Amino acid sequence: MNDKLREKLIDIEPYVPGDQPKGEGIIKLNTNESPYPPSPRVAEALKNINPSELKLYPDFVCTELKTVLGENYGVNTNEVFLGNGSDEVLALCFKAFFNSDEPILFPDITYSFYSVWAELFKIPYKRVPLKDDFTLDVEGFLNKNGGIVIPNPNAPTGIYEPKSGIEKIIRGNKDSIVIIDEAYVDFSEEGSIAELVHKYDNLVVVQTYSKSRNLAGIRFGYAFANPELIGVLEGVKNSFNSYTINTVTKTLALESGKDRGYFEMCVENIKSTKAYLITNLKELGFTVCPSSSNFVFATKADTDCKALFEYLRSKNIYVRRFDAPKISNYLRITVGTDREIYALTEAISDFLNK
Ligand SMILES: *Cc1c(COP(=O)(O)O)cnc(C)c1O
Repeated sequence: MNDKLREKLIDIEPYVPGDQPKGEGIIKLNTNESPYPPSPRVAEALKNINPSELKLYPDFVCTELKTVLGENYGVNTNEVFLGNGSDEVLALCFKAFFNSDEPILFPDITYSFYSVWAELFKIPYKRVPLKDDFTLDVEGFLNKNGGIVIPNPNAPTGIYEPKSGIEKIIRGNKDSIVIIDEAYVDFSEEGSIAELVHKYDNLVVVQTYSKSRNLAGIRFGYAFANPELIGVLEGVKNSFNSYTINTVTKTLALESGKDRGYFEMCVENIKSTKAYLITNLKELGFTVCPSSSNFVFATKADTDCKALFEYLRSKNIYVRRFDAPKISNYLRITVGTDREIYALTEAISDFLNK
């Protein structure tokens, strides 16, 4: 390729998702998926999809789906925006709401996609350092900015910032859009701040069915905000791709949303396995961040956690590690089944006794 041709190509460093290894005997604790299948109602609905329906473009508005989401989180149907996974919803939010010469703000240790979208859309950004204990520095988000995005609970720490702190940030930034990425909020004690969209016209709350709803494979995410912001998001989406919710996703997401009992059971199972995982890790000498999510973030001071990460992978156990300042000796471990966590614990113990 000649240089003049190469000049025309965008120069980007993309987000790198966790490995998706396939095969027998693999224990996959690296991308925060659920170890459980989706609701039986989802399986039933999948069987009943008429292939003939698929010849048509999907439902453009998905009113029933928005209504069910609204009922589950206390917002109105016109306060809901749907997308092909929350990554898409977040990307569209960046495009729609971050249009300032001032930098947008997000924590220094956080979801690594934020800086990727900022680079892609040429949005200036600044990282606000977490405190030494990895909690959010609320005051740091009260400086002049072009917008804010914060995951709550944060990733990859799993730490939840109480509603009072988040509300202080929303209140202190009346002239900026504040996006709260609630990918893991269903695992927290205090829960979602979705209902605050009635109170603040600068708040956008983003959620996903990939983690707590056991449906990463259908790609379904959504945002809650006041109708005016939702209208702008719809406008950006319709300037890019009008049909982001396919017919299969729509049908399955609807059934999952209606099955509150199964959802709550899965969340409770994960919380109880998480307690078991944390106990085991502490017994092995690890320091574990307080987790309000379906993963834990842990380190062991006198241990090379990169070597441990590689040892686990050699035993077909996949966890996640980030080559980034301050957290390079940490492992992020998704809460799997009790049996998977038992196998993980045994393998870590073998590594430490080598
Ligand atoms: C997993 C995750 C997402 C993306 O979820 P999808 O809906 O699968 O695109 C967004 N934000 C955070 C913080 C996540 O961990």
